[in-house]
Amino acid sequence: MVAHLIVGNGPAGVVAAETLRRADPQAEITLLGDEPEPPYSRMAIPYLLTGRIDEAGTYLRKQADHFERLRIRLLTARVQAIDGARRTATLADGSVLAWDRLLVATGSQPLRPPIPGLDLPRVHCCWTLADARVIAETIAGGARVLQMGAGFIGCIILESLAAQGRQLKVVEMGDRMVPRMMDEVAGGMIRRWCEGKGVEVRTGRQVVSIAAAGDALRVQLDDGESVEVDALINATGVRPNVDFLAGSGVAVDHGILVDDSMQTNIAGIYAAGDVAEAVEFATGRRVVNAIQPDAVEQARVAALNMAGQSATLPGTFVFNVLDTLGLISASFGQWQDAPGRQTAQLLDQATYRYLRLVFDGDRLVGANSIGHSAHIGVLRGLIQGRVRLGAWRARLLANPLLLSEAYLARGLAAA
Ligand SMILES: Cc1cc2nc3c(=O)[nH]c(=O)nc-3n(C[C@H](O)[C@H](O)[C@H](O)COP(=O)(O)OP(=O)(O)OC[C@H]3O[C@@H](n4cnc5c(N)ncnc54)[C@H](O)[C@@H]3O)c2cc1C
Repeated sequence: MVAHLIVGNGPAGVVAAETLRRADPQAEITLLGDEPEPPYSRMAIPYLLTGRIDEAGTYLRKQADHFERLRIRLLTARVQAIDGARRTATLADGSVLAWDRLLVATGSQPLRPPIPGLDLPRVHCCWTLADARVIAETIAGGARVLQMGAGFIGCIILESLAAQGRQLKVVEMGDRMVPRMMDEVAGGMIRRWCEGKGVEVRTGRQVVSIAAAGDALRVQLDDGESVEVDALINATGVRPNVDFLAGSGVAVDHGILVDDSMQTNIAGIYAAGDVAEAVEFATGRRVVNAIQPDAVEQARVAALNMAGQSATLPGTFVFNVLDTLGLISASFGQWQDAPGRQTAQLLDQATYRYLRLVFDGDRLVGANSIGHSAHIGVLRGLIQGRVRLGAWRARLLANPLLLSEAYLARGLAAA
């Protein structure tokens, strides 16, 4: 009987365990996580904070005996070290687990920039259920809150932080909101939308220090501005949880390096989810694409290979849809300008609608969109499908709204 150990019980770990069970009814499967709650989805935290669901609503599987029925052994423990040669995992209490195949699905953790005062009470992250409880219990309605960082996760949590009449100020060091996902026009439009909803936004600014000021915090920005707030949320980004792999022999760059079967450089050790660095489908570059749909798909592929079947990931497609206080934006593939690329743009600032297409030869390789939600599926199909547009390229350059027609004419045929 093969013994599988899965470290990390977020969406990647859970889907891997279930896929393994389906593929191998006999296997021994241990699913291990270091948070005390049943496996849950971080994606659901904003819904919890705005009261749309309760804590149980964040759980990935709703039946208490779900894992027991699948004969998946669920353990709460922290893995401290992996020995790739001996095939063992050492837990924080010193006990040792042996495995035949290992999946590392440990996700990521919030970055902690070296800012004096970041350890003060009233400074929080919004990453775990424990964080969500602290935010809900300690940041009262009407409180003054400063959010540091306006990236993908930062923009997702704005709504929950601004809820209950809290006065929210956002400080982003990039020159615009969501700078790694959106161009200047789109980032500027999202900022204007947030300001219209009463959120103060500072871009191109950094927090340089945080100090206690009675029951509040005094936050100093790099332009000399000093702000008093009741709480500060650190949303400055995340980094993969790889520290426990030191000395294991597993190759790590930013995340754990995997091939298209999600296997690492060591046979029998796989990685999936926010911790994995996989190959991007169009460019061949390695990326950590820290979003839940990717985590789940990578986990499925890893588990099938762990069970002895053959499955490959066609390559990571970098694609994000974002809801910022009700404004829906999306970013696809290679949306940045580069030599040799052509662009087409539609912009209506008054109605918050923006569409920018980026072409390389007769292929659409990237896009940014705001308020054009109806086109999201077609954009994905054309870009991920690497569809050759032929004469449709010129038509789209003249009128980007012909996306559906182009997809019907070229995309379906290619699919
Ligand atoms: C507030 C918020 C909103 C989000 N919204 C979206 C969204 O709208 N769309 C989207 O696609 N993504 C969203 N995300 C990101 C998404 O949650 C992650 O991409 C997803 O959780 C990745 O799943 P994972 O299984 O790889 O890692 P995780 O969910 O992070 O799970 C990893 C688990 O492993 C555990 N672990 C780590 N180290 C160890 C160790 N040494 N030993 C044992 N256990 C360990 C961790 O504690 C954790 O429980 C959001 C994230 C947050 C915080």
